[in-house]
Amino acid sequence: MKFLRIVICLSILCLSSSCMQKDTQKAQQTKPIAKSGQPKVLQTKSATPDLASGPEKNIRKPHPLSLADLRKKYRSTFLLNGPSSRRAVALTFDDAPDAHFTPLVLDALKKEGVQATFFVVGNRVEAHPEIMKRIVQEGHLIGNHSYNHANLPKVSDAEFRDQVQKTDKLISQYTGYTPNIIRPPYGNISEGQIQWLASQGKKIINWNVDSLDWKGLTTQQVETNVLAHVKPGSIILHHAAGGKGEDLTCTVNALPHIINQLRKDGVELVWVTDLLGLDIPAK
Ligand SMILES: [Zn+2]
Repeated sequence: MKFLRIVICLSILCLSSSCMQKDTQKAQQTKPIAKSGQPKVLQTKSATPDLASGPEKNIRKPHPLSLADLRKKYRSTFLLNGPSSRRAVALTFDDAPDAHFTPLVLDALKKEGVQATFFVVGNRVEAHPEIMKRIVQEGHLIGNHSYNHANLPKVSDAEFRDQVQKTDKLISQYTGYTPNIIRPPYGNISEGQIQWLASQGKKIINWNVDSLDWKGLTTQQVETNVLAHVKPGSIILHHAAGGKGEDLTCTVNALPHIINQLRKDGVELVWVTDLLGLDIPAK
């Protein structure tokens, strides 16, 4: 009996001590909340200083390089002008061929005996094969200006390569060579696209003198845009065909004066490859 009483007593003691322990733990867990009100925030603040410029995800968004940055980074692939050591410039014409303005530009160049560089659009070559033939026959150099004048940085890699290769193939049917020069529509190109073009041995040719002829300017405005900014080594941008409703009469009429003024100043008018010292694409 005595033994049984001892066991019962011990059990009661044990149980009550276990309850006490649990209560103490509970009290410890709730204690900081009751004291500070915002324990978690306070704890983080004091333990780890915040990142001065904010979280990684806010800062490390992709920031594509600007065209000026790309030009600096890919100096030997992405060209805007030739060397100033030679008194020469290149007249370049984009967006040809069409059935109206391209023949007028060709007439003006023929009359002055100038050979220029035409950056042609693939689907326009398909639409105007006779005009394309004429451009080549009259001794102008041909470059690629994409297949349908897409804003290239916005298209997929596959679409971009297709734009370039399809147009190259079309051009080679007329010239017998695959062009090694390309002018991206609007001058826009992404870094990945530059890297791919470089791997294909191609040069990207933009410009440093813009006639702004697509704005429907007067003949005199186009002459001023060119002659006021031209210097040895310049690559001059004109258009030999337009978008819907664009009038390029200003360029057609300005060409004789621009050409004569440059010649009077002792400036040679050459293919862009000649200006840049690039290989002429092999037949
Ligand atoms: Zn264009």
